[in-house]
Formats: sequence, structure tokens, C-alpha cells
Amino acid sequence: MVSLNALKGFVGKENVLSTLEDRICYAYDGTKQKYIPDVVVRPRSTQHVSDVLRFANEHEIPVYPRGAGSGLTGGAVPVQGGIVLDFTHMNKILEIVPEDLTATVEPGVVTQILQNEAAKYKLFYPPDPASAAFSTIGGNVAECSGGITGLKYGVTRDYILSLEVVLADGSVIHTGRKTLKSVTGYDLTRLFVGSEGTLGVFTQITVKLLPLPEKIETLLVFFATPQDAVRTASLIISNNLLPRALEFIDKSSIDCIKGYKQEVQIPDEVNALLLIDVDGKETSVKAEISLIEKIAMENQPLRVVSAKTAQERDTLWEVRRVISPALYNIAPFKINEDICVPRSRILEALNRIAESHKRYPSLKVANFGHIGDGNIHVNIMYDEGDKQRMQAENMIEEILRTTVELGGTISGEHGIGNVKSAFLSLEIPPQELRIMKDIKHLLDPKGILNPGKMFV
Ligand SMILES: Cc1cc2nc3c(=O)[nH]c(=O)nc-3n(C[C@H](O)[C@H](O)[C@H](O)COP(=O)(O)OP(=O)(O)OC[C@H]3O[C@@H](n4cnc5c(N)ncnc54)[C@H](O)[C@@H]3O)c2cc1C
Repeated sequence: MVSLNALKGFVGKENVLSTLEDRICYAYDGTKQKYIPDVVVRPRSTQHVSDVLRFANEHEIPVYPRGAGSGLTGGAVPVQGGIVLDFTHMNKILEIVPEDLTATVEPGVVTQILQNEAAKYKLFYPPDPASAAFSTIGGNVAECSGGITGLKYGVTRDYILSLEVVLADGSVIHTGRKTLKSVTGYDLTRLFVGSEGTLGVFTQITVKLLPLPEKIETLLVFFATPQDAVRTASLIISNNLLPRALEFIDKSSIDCIKGYKQEVQIPDEVNALLLIDVDGKETSVKAEISLIEKIAMENQPLRVVSAKTAQERDTLWEVRRVISPALYNIAPFKINEDICVPRSRILEALNRIAESHKRYPSLKVANFGHIGDGNIHVNIMYDEGDKQRMQAENMIEEILRTTVELGGTISGEHGIGNVKSAFLSLEIPPQELRIMKDIKHLLDPKGILNPGKMFV
């Protein structure tokens, strides 16, 4: 039993939530699992976090760090009860230093708020998950989130310079430096990025910023076949062009968005789309976009639509934004996978997914995503009922096995959590898995940090 009095003594009674109504709000994340924690603590400082962890470690109470709870692999779900540490109140941007191109923030800062604040200094925080409007930097660092800008700018990992981390025993460490370069000792910062709340709890994060691009232009290209779209994407990259975004949308996703609230009309003969953003100085954007348009025109497009103003771009991007909600029009349940394969194997991956689908014809499957990174969101839609759920899970396992066979990874950006922990050994060999478990044991010997995640 968790001692509420001890916790209230550490963080103040107003920061401890113990009613069932309050605790239920912290039972979920983006996976729709439900595990109610014993108590929710809302730390306001590193000292609060340190006191709570020292206490939890002493009494072997599970602790589940939580940002916005938007994770798609169950990372923040308290599967063994215990304490949820809600970081949404540690949400200050502590400093933005234009001269150093850095920002230091508390973990509960919402990603888009950091992006907007940086933009006021004409600076750019590039990692851009589709959840940027509500997910937190702490959650992004813990998952090493990606997004639509990954092809040109990389993922969260590439922007984290240093971390303040509270370890399981309550001690506070600092990793990295607020410098663009540092090769002193092992790179502990990289070890913590993507550790999914299992190795330590972040209380301060210093990120790298870039100059804000002057101009962004967008192209939406309609194709009769997915082969034409994939070939065009490959040619863009092999011609040394690096778009800010290069997104693929398949026929099933297109069918879903037709009739959904968005302005772009997509004729029936369109079977694949590419959505392409180019950014940079005005002159270079102009040159790059016309080269990309030329490549697209040489690959049998049915139509090429371009957008130059923010409003026109928004209209084109709406096509991509509405896919996720529109998918629920075809079935009430969805499993959203985020496999990533070498770019040269994307067509093979799509063909193998289609073959697998033939074995489960009652399921609906829609593929879209960051083709420029080789990262495809495979969405399997199913109705309520054990039979369909089981078929969906079997199909997922086939797809994950195929992905590894093709040299890819079972998670490009959503992480492992408890949803994919059974599949970790498909990709990670025993010796590497042993090293990972040894690291976990070294940093959290009693296993209080996010137990039930990553490893089965
Ligand atoms: C509509 C939608 C779109 C999405 N789009 C994308 C996308 O484009 N790209 C992408 O990568 N993901 C995407 N996601 C998934 C999700 O938003 C990301 O994984 C995000 O980084 C989670 O942030 P969060 O604040 O919600 O974290 P949570 O879900 O609360 O937690 C995620 C993990 O972080 C840990 N954690 C949280 N805070 C801390 C901390 N301070 N210290 C240590 N560990 C901590 C938790 O324990 C948990 O393991 C999407 C989700 C939704 C619902």
C-alpha cells in the first residue's frame, strides 16, 4: 500500500491525487488499455521527483512516468498499479539561447509550444510528431519520437544535447553538455533517449535548435499505381534531393478520406499519393521543387498539385491529417504499426503486406506514412469480437517477421512498451538483449521504473 501521507509530505497534498475518479483519468494512453494506478503524483521540481523515487525505491513501489499519455505502445500505462508521475505541471521553457541555438525545458512542455516559442526567435525545433499539439517533450525523448520531418532533419534523438535525469534511487545525474559537440566518455544521453521511462526520469532537457527555414512549398502527386509512387520517391532521393517531408498514401487510405471533411477531390483512378514538402531559402526551394516536379512528371502522374501559401499547403496536408480519424469509418478498432525498412525495400514490404492480407480477407488494411524514412504505418482495422482481433494479431506478427527479414525494425518511432515487448526478440539477438537487461539492472536494480514494459 502506498503511503499517501509520505507522498503529500514530499510534494504537498495538492499534488497527490487519490480518488478513483482522478486515478481513472491516468489509467489509459493511446492504446486504450486500462490499468488504474494506486496514486497520481504531480511533481513541480526535480527535488519532488527525487524524493518520490527515493521513497518508491525503498518500498519497492512501481513508478510510471507520464507526459500527455498519447503513446501508442502502452508506455505510460501503470500495468502494476503503484505511482503515476504526471509531468504536465513541470512545463516551463527555462531558456532559449539564440546565440547557442539551444533551449532548455522541463519535460512537460508540449512539443508545439516549444516549436512556437522557438519560432519567435526565428529558430526551429524540427522533430514534428503528428501528436505535437498535445504530446510532451519528455514523452518524445522517452520514445525518441519521429515525425514528418525525419527524412531531412532526423528524429528527437538528433536534437537532445543534455539531460537531467533522476535515477531509480532518487539520485540526480546530468548527461551530455549544452554544446553541439562532446565526445567525453560514453554517450549516456543517447542511452536515455528512447529508454521509455525504464532507466531514469527526465526533469530537464536541453535541445538543439536550427534557424527557421524561410520558405516551405508543397506538392501533392496523384498516381495510378503504388509502384509509380514508390519509384518517384526513390528517384527524388537518388537525385540528391532531400525534401522536408515525403509521405505516401495508399488506395485504402485514399478510399477512407474520400467524403471525409477535406477539400481535395481525388478521382477514382488514383491508387496512390505522394505528399512532398520542400523547405529552405526561397531561391533554393523554387529550384528544388521544380526538379521534384520534373521527376514526378517523368513517372506517369495523373496530376500534380502545388501549394505555395500557408493556406494552400494546409489544404493539401489536410488529406494526410484526416487519414487516422477517417479510418474509424471502416471499422471501430485499429492496430497502428510503425515498421521501418531500408528505403530500397519499401515496395517489397508493401507487396508482402498485401500477400499477408490475402490470408485475412475480412480485415481492412491501410498503409501510409513516411516513405522517405522507409517508415510505413500499417493500420489493421477490425470489428469487435475475438475472431477478428486474433486474426489482426496474427497478421501483425507476420508483418513484423517480414520487416525483420527485410532488414528493418519493428518500431520506427512508437517504441515497444508492453504492446510489442513479446516481439522484441524477433529483432534483438540474445546477447544484445542480455546487455540491455544488464543496463536496466544496473540503473534500476529493484525494477521500480515502468515495470512490465520493454522486456517480457
Ligand atoms: C494522434 C497521434 C499521433 C501520433 N503521431 C506520432 C508521430 O507522428 N510520431 C511519433 O513518434 N509518435 C506519434 N504518436 C505517439 C505519441 O504521441 C508519442 O510517442 C509521444 O512522444 C508520446 O508523448 P507523451 O507526452 O504523450 O508521452 P506518454 O504517452 O505519456 O509517455 C510515453 C513514454 O514516455 C515516458 N515518459 C514520459 N515522460 C517522461 C519523463 N519525464 N521521463 C522519463 N520518461 C517519461 C513514459 O513512461 C512512457 O514510457 C502519436 C500519437 C497519437 C495519439
